[in-house]
Amino acid sequence: MIEGKHIIGFEQIAKGESCFYAVDPVTGNKLDHRFYNVTTDEINYAISKAVSAFVLYRKKSGVEKAAFLECIADEIIALGDELINCCNAETALPKARLEGERTRTINQAKLFAALLKEGSWVDARIDTALPHRQPIARPDIRYMQIALGPVTVFGASNFPLAFSVAGGDTIAALAAGCPVICKAHPAHPATAELVAKAIQAAAIKTNMPDGVFSLLFAEGISAGLQLVQHPGVKAVAFTGSFKGGKALFDAAAAREEPIPVYAEMGSINPVFVLPEALEKYGEKIATGFSNSVTLGVGQFCTNPGMLVYKNAGKQNNFDDQLKNAFQNTTGGVMLTQNMYDNYNAGVANRLTNKDVVLLVKSGTDAGGNTANPVLLKTNFIGLKNDLCLNEELFGPASLVVEAISKNEMMAIAENLSGHLTATIHGTENDLIGYKDLLDILEQKVGRIVINGFPTGVEVCTAMVHGGPYPATTDARSTSVGTAAINRFTRPVCYQDMFQHLLPEELKNENKLNIWRQINGVQTQSDVEM
Ligand code: NAP
Repeated sequence: MIEGKHIIGFEQIAKGESCFYAVDPVTGNKLDHRFYNVTTDEINYAISKAVSAFVLYRKKSGVEKAAFLECIADEIIALGDELINCCNAETALPKARLEGERTRTINQAKLFAALLKEGSWVDARIDTALPHRQPIARPDIRYMQIALGPVTVFGASNFPLAFSVAGGDTIAALAAGCPVICKAHPAHPATAELVAKAIQAAAIKTNMPDGVFSLLFAEGISAGLQLVQHPGVKAVAFTGSFKGGKALFDAAAAREEPIPVYAEMGSINPVFVLPEALEKYGEKIATGFSNSVTLGVGQFCTNPGMLVYKNAGKQNNFDDQLKNAFQNTTGGVMLTQNMYDNYNAGVANRLTNKDVVLLVKSGTDAGGNTANPVLLKTNFIGLKNDLCLNEELFGPASLVVEAISKNEMMAIAENLSGHLTATIHGTENDLIGYKDLLDILEQKVGRIVINGFPTGVEVCTAMVHGGPYPATTDARSTSVGTAAINRFTRPVCYQDMFQHLLPEELKNENKLNIWRQINGVQTQSDVEM
């Protein structure tokens, strides 16, 4: 029996007594790897180390932090097949998918490293003094973003590499200059441990302070709550259920010192198909949609859980096109027994609505938590009368809604809550005629996709993976892409500070050669005095 211990800074510790096991999602059997639930003393120890590490880590230069992130990427690569095999055993995700996710994880770390080396992300602004301004002189004021402090990260279950221990949240926080205390998701603890050891090795090799990163194991909500409530923690990043994210948000808001919680909690990612596109490209849209719904057994936060189309009044064969495409899809093993049970219960619950019909169910009843893709259908009234239909059903299912008029389609859009994405399939003519639909969706989501599908989130500088509540708890941010760094910083300004005491980014001489705003002008020049 292999025993997993908490990684607390440069140590590996487990003083608790209760344990949980890694589980094979196909059979539900325990794997040969057990983990100790973290104790309160260990949580306090990890956070006190993070608080001490913050004093040193926040002063590391962009180049030093970049070397740390690049070394994390190298250490993860060095784990080789062991990482992929271990993750496959715990999640049942295909090895090819996991290899792709590992590449994404590594490239994500390298992208943030490049951002740090370039350096302009600190958003330096300098307003030089105007001593002769009338009626009063203006002082010299210099602004930049600095790190918030230790961050608690909850690893996501559905991205065991790219959104877990060394995932987007952890890398963005480390890039900002914040130590991270990560709670491993209990659905892939051995994978989490391997990755955490890679981060630990990288921290030691690149001379980062002890406590810059910790990974704690726990099953159940108590440890997570303590990690949010501890006064040493200054921000929280979470990906998972609405229930979990909202509970952690409420706990953070109830603290004596409230802190930001960036919870990404789910979405139905509606797809709107406009009339001309439906007529011209119905079959292609049906195929692309079916593939997107069932990709990765539908276990993506960007899974398109609703498709709305307007019946053009002519003979409507779009349902048949959808049925044909969807019945070619296959299901797969879900990540956990719990998810599988929730999925089946969710499908059954929706089918109790008299206005919901089963369009098609595909896949084979293979057993072992293997979910069957399901396409349901309803109309405007059915959707309006059943709030549950507007909620995420995690898994390979989607709901087709047939609108009989543009007004109905607009009302459906207007009634949407916040989501991560919305997709429109339309020709240029369609989009001109439905400009008002675009205007509504802009208010509802973080990313608008035209003639594509929402699954597949590019990690880049311009990405927004966020959206209004209840998709997330903070619509002003993104959890994917380099802009994610801004979640873990705050602005500070120095008024009339001595030159030699200013941070390098704000000195007159621009040795870092970063872009700065000097008296309202974006430039890489020095400040002329
Ligand atoms: P989850 O139940 O929200 O759990 C995520 C993490 O948060 C786990 O480490 C969990 O700890 C912790 N947690 C949950 N509730 C908590 C609370 N009240 N206080 C403190 N910690 C708490 O999500 P999941 O296990 O990944 O999946 C469950 C469901 O979430 C899925 O069926 C799906 O509907 C949804 N989900 C959505 C997305 C998305 O991107 N939209 C992604 C993943 C999952 P423990 O597990 O140790 O209790």
